[in-house]
Amino acid sequence: MSDTDPNCLFCKIVAGDIPAEIVSETEHTVAFRDVDPQAPTHVLVIPRVHQPDIASLVDAAPEAAVELLKETRRVAQADGHDSYRLVFNTGPDAHQTVFHVHGHVLAGRSLTWPPG
Ligand code: AMP
Repeated sequence: MSDTDPNCLFCKIVAGDIPAEIVSETEHTVAFRDVDPQAPTHVLVIPRVHQPDIASLVDAAPEAAVELLKETRRVAQADGHDSYRLVFNTGPDAHQTVFHVHGHVLAGRSLTWPPG
């Protein structure tokens, strides 16, 4: 699989071709605010490389997967939250709509369980 997909929305954000409210960037990751936030903090952390889901990222680029996980806590704490939820919707039945792996970091309100 190529490192980028010209038809992928999140690859276009990584490339700067589509604007996003970026909150952090590292060698392997970009984090930006979700355009339709479900909590006061709702940040998406993505790898620069195009992989459809977290399992394929772990196989293809484990260093990017580790950095992505580290970044999730950093972006939550940067917004002042030690409590947060990290969600990887994986597959259409799990409500994945963008097939470039992204961790949702949700914080800033009381979150219920189980999720819908
Ligand atoms: P998922 O349903 O897990 O695939 O999540 C995709 C997320 O991407 C949704 O929460 C969308 O609101 C978010 N999203 C879609 N387009 C954009 C965009 N251009 N900038 C920021 N977030 C986006």
